[in-house]
Amino acid sequence: MSVPTAMKTETFFTIEMPYRERMEIRRTVFSGGGGPRLSVVAGIHGDELEGLYVCHRLAAWLDELQRTSPGGLLGSIELYPAVNTLGLDTLTRGLPVFDTDLNRAFPGSAGGPLPERLAAALMTALTGSALVVDVHASNIYLREIPQVRINQEFDDLLVPIARRMNLDLIWLHGAATVLETTLAHSLNSCGTPCLVAEMGVGMRITPEYCDQLVAGILTVCRDLGVLASDVSVPETTHTPFIADDSNVHYLNAQTSGMFIPAASHWTDVRRGELLGTIVSPLRGDILSEVRAPVDGILFTLREYPLVYEGSLMARVMARKGGAPA
Ligand SMILES: [Zn+2]
Repeated sequence: MSVPTAMKTETFFTIEMPYRERMEIRRTVFSGGGGPRLSVVAGIHGDELEGLYVCHRLAAWLDELQRTSPGGLLGSIELYPAVNTLGLDTLTRGLPVFDTDLNRAFPGSAGGPLPERLAAALMTALTGSALVVDVHASNIYLREIPQVRINQEFDDLLVPIARRMNLDLIWLHGAATVLETTLAHSLNSCGTPCLVAEMGVGMRITPEYCDQLVAGILTVCRDLGVLASDVSVPETTHTPFIADDSNVHYLNAQTSGMFIPAASHWTDVRRGELLGTIVSPLRGDILSEVRAPVDGILFTLREYPLVYEGSLMARVMARKGGAPA
């Protein structure tokens, strides 16, 4: 017998502030029955807003499901849209006052300073989820296509799920580049699968990317039995390329200056093609050029114009075998 969906917003972490207020960090829980739980986390970095909109779109979809197909939710979906509230309030990437990147504070400690306490509370809340999706935007400097980043240590488990997420790229990272103090690494190490989605640009929302990820998350919810198999979810139309250290090429600025792009983000480029120029605000000349090193896909492009010698300008992914993986 089906159970109608219940929705509630609750506090999962609270701490007394130095003056009158308490800080309360909240989640929204949609629960339909005793089935598996999927959790979506966003706003660990206070300058990344794409995931907040993903949570809004999921909540709107689940509200609609409640009306059209009560009983369609077999498990529960938890939304944690704004984990680093102090950072979001002040347009700060890290946790203000503590000058800490919250995504370097995991697994945290219940008796530690604020960043550690918050990390520990989030770990406790998320542990046992069938899947956690940690949504990041890029920073304000670079624009990224919708992608999932996976540590090769956990690729056997995570790549098959990631292929269902309706994203355009699965980027496998070698063990040497892994940061062990991230939420994803801490959860995966404890047996709760966690995928890191990254897309768009900092301080902005890219609605089409967010809707693309929402369709993927709902498809995975159905795969996992969080949603009933007969629930219709938005269509998924994207197939990811696979990238790793062997086919991703980094382009760094040869000179400092102002970057003026000549190519569009997320397009095919040919070896030697002009991607942009770096010009001087003081003089009329072009200081240096950024050109594609290989035939491939321009999947990262500089968004913020002021650059220093050595700044990352673009990443180009050479196709493996020429077809989607
Ligand atoms: Zn982030």
